[in-house]
Amino acid sequence: MKAIRRFTVRTVLPEALDAVSALAANLRWSWHEPTRRLFARIDPILWDELDHDPIALLGAVDSARLEELAGDGQFIADAQALRADLTAYLEEPRWYQSLEDAPQRIAYFSPEFGIASAIPQYSGGLGILAGDHLKSASDLGLPLLGVGLFYRAGYFRQAIDRDGWQKETYPLLDPDGLPMQVLREGDGAPVLVTLPLTGGSQLHARVWQMHVGRVVLLLLDTDIAENEEELRGVTDRLYGGGGEHRLLQELLLGIGGVRAIKAHVRITGSPAPEVFHTNEGHAGFLGLERISDLIAEGLTFSEALQVVRAGTLFTTHTPVPAGIDRFDASLVERYFQTDLLPGVDAHDVLALGREDYPGGDRGVHNMAVMGLRLAQRANGVSQLHGEVSRGMFGELWPGFDAADVPITSVTNGVHAPTWTDPLMVTLAKDSLGTYDTTRCDWSSDAVSDAQLWSVRRAMREQLVTDARERVAAAWVEENPGMAAPQWMTGVLDPDVLTIGFARRVPTYKRLTLMLHDQDRLRALLTDPERPVQLVIAGKSHPADDSGKALIQKLVQFAAEHDVRERIVFLPNYDIGMARLLYPGTDIWLNNPLRPFEACGTSGMKAALNGSLNLSILDGWWNEYYDGENGWAIPSADAAGDGAERDALEAEAMYDLIEHQIAPRFYDRDDEGLPRRWLRNIRHTLATLSPELSADRMVSEYVERLYVPAARARRAISGESYGPARDLAQWKARVTAEWPNVAVAHVESGGVQSPQVGDELTVRAHVELAGLSADDVLVDVVFGRARDGDELADVHHMPLTLEAHELGQSATFTGTVPLARSGSFGYTVRVTPCHELLAHPAELGLVAVAEH
Ligand SMILES: *Cc1c(COP(=O)(O)O)cnc(C)c1O
Repeated sequence: MKAIRRFTVRTVLPEALDAVSALAANLRWSWHEPTRRLFARIDPILWDELDHDPIALLGAVDSARLEELAGDGQFIADAQALRADLTAYLEEPRWYQSLEDAPQRIAYFSPEFGIASAIPQYSGGLGILAGDHLKSASDLGLPLLGVGLFYRAGYFRQAIDRDGWQKETYPLLDPDGLPMQVLREGDGAPVLVTLPLTGGSQLHARVWQMHVGRVVLLLLDTDIAENEEELRGVTDRLYGGGGEHRLLQELLLGIGGVRAIKAHVRITGSPAPEVFHTNEGHAGFLGLERISDLIAEGLTFSEALQVVRAGTLFTTHTPVPAGIDRFDASLVERYFQTDLLPGVDAHDVLALGREDYPGGDRGVHNMAVMGLRLAQRANGVSQLHGEVSRGMFGELWPGFDAADVPITSVTNGVHAPTWTDPLMVTLAKDSLGTYDTTRCDWSSDAVSDAQLWSVRRAMREQLVTDARERVAAAWVEENPGMAAPQWMTGVLDPDVLTIGFARRVPTYKRLTLMLHDQDRLRALLTDPERPVQLVIAGKSHPADDSGKALIQKLVQFAAEHDVRERIVFLPNYDIGMARLLYPGTDIWLNNPLRPFEACGTSGMKAALNGSLNLSILDGWWNEYYDGENGWAIPSADAAGDGAERDALEAEAMYDLIEHQIAPRFYDRDDEGLPRRWLRNIRHTLATLSPELSADRMVSEYVERLYVPAARARRAISGESYGPARDLAQWKARVTAEWPNVAVAHVESGGVQSPQVGDELTVRAHVELAGLSADDVLVDVVFGRARDGDELADVHHMPLTLEAHELGQSATFTGTVPLARSGSFGYTVRVTPCHELLAHPAELGLVAVAEH
């Protein structure tokens, strides 16, 4: 029998345990080890059984135990000390408080947040990254407000049936059993966010607040009595359904999210966000709600657009076209022909998301394209991904070289306190005197090789124990009433070289590349002297049968008798599993099809624990691999077809494992230590940890993007939006005149037979049509000339105005130093210039010399 409704009756803790309630109510427990240890003391067995979820734990312990704790002076004192520590953490000035000019508030929108395994509101990397962003923002003291949706079923739970086929279940979450509260008005009434829809119906949502350290996360939830039955299901699942269901989720996230922020600001009296950061395009509608508000203040659409752009940052996360949301334009149009956004015309909305460039589909509303048009600043998530994104979205800035496309990059990072195993933290504390594993001297003798190796072994053993339990539990689940077979207790070995591979299973990640040559893999796994073992996990999207077939292939191989103790597939990859998996592996394997892995973060989490990476040079590894921190699988870019490429890359991977990795791992001295390997571990910990930490990422966002965005936003909004009105007018004028702007003629002189040290004088005659010389930037663009006259190593130097007579072309001049021998080429480029532009390519307008 299934219940049709459920709820949780919250425990009333004895008053003496107030401090415990306070600690459970703030999600800092998800990464604060001392707080986790306190909860574990309440009931160590239940704590493990309940997935380290303090709220569930407090609900499950019996009242006798609670009374006992209430009378335990030491426990109470420890809880109170931790609460005092939490209070200090929430209030004391941190890094951000030392900055000048920083935004008073930043809103961070994401469709998913991965914070703790007890709160499955994430499907993979994007969500975990968002969770890590909030946690580091909290640690650094950012006044950040997170905005997302509360999904009743979250992402699915994965089981594997006896045929190796993935089965999904969607366990319902009970919001009352989670550490969050409904946002309420002063009079206690719950805040309701409302969106008028088509056909006169209305979508309502309540707003949950979660406290993630210093950060407040607002989550919108439509499962309330105020909604028609069908609309209650809008936030039923993460990425459930397609088309219209998904559009409704995104309208709620973007538009409803901004409305939730306004309610929060009104009720708490805290500052309104100056900067809006959208984590991928899903939340893109947020810009439209803000435009609508500005129109209500008297601005036109295009004036409002300037203000919104100034304060918006768009982060793109995928170079895979299928990863980008594209809706039927006619569907979007229907939703915006309502009262949804007062003052905003559906045509203006559609123009923002239209793929009106060569190769685009004009019937589609593209959320990434809209995201880029609504944001003055944009970035990809690794250097390589930035470059790929500039190529991929280059059509939006026609006439510019890919290198000039205004999309920068901030390489992702991971929240070290969440992802560093407590054993590593203890080692750092005991030997190096700090809890911060990302900033300590791992090359120091204060940590001996023997100590480091013993911690590495202990982490491997933890994983082996966890994997055995999971394999047995999964078997029992599929074979109810029968005990798990004996051999399962001997799966994996805590002394064998352990390779981990876990991720979502889209095709480009190539889950089964390792099966390319099964005999070769079998030989590696069963090598009598230097065996290798593999721990694998990953979920396929429920609608992706080809992904499920890959999992099946792997599960079937792993069931074969001669290898089943050396290769396991662990069902239901999630944060809880991941926290043991990364530290327990010696090698973290990643073999995506380059360049489709935008960044990849699991390898970063492994590295923080001293695992070495074995990866295709894609995403973050492309910029951080240095020959000592792991191995690079060469990409066979020149291969004739996909199959040949797979074959070449798989062979290269086997070769590395067989000839380099296994020999080094098993090369032991008389103390049984692999000295060379340990040097690689120390090098990885010392050099990668600070770089891979989310603190580095978040501070880069602050300094390079949030602060400039806040400044731009203030500059454009001052004097009752006067600058925004001027900018909108100026853009319209420049755009109208631009077809007649041209570089008429370029003279150069001064060098007969050029040699290094000479200067080249350039004089450009530019037709400005109705524009003035101040409206443009005239650059000489120079570099090495390659075949086909393409410039490489490109530099820009502005020319200065020499003369501009009425009705004539304007003359600009300057000199370029010839600093290097060899081929030299140059041209002259004109772009619009205005102090409120962030980038010369911003308007997508350019005129280049033709001769
Ligand atoms: C880190 C993480 C991911 C993302 O890993 P990628 O390397 O980016 O694919 C996915 N799921 C879980 C549970 C994670 O912890």
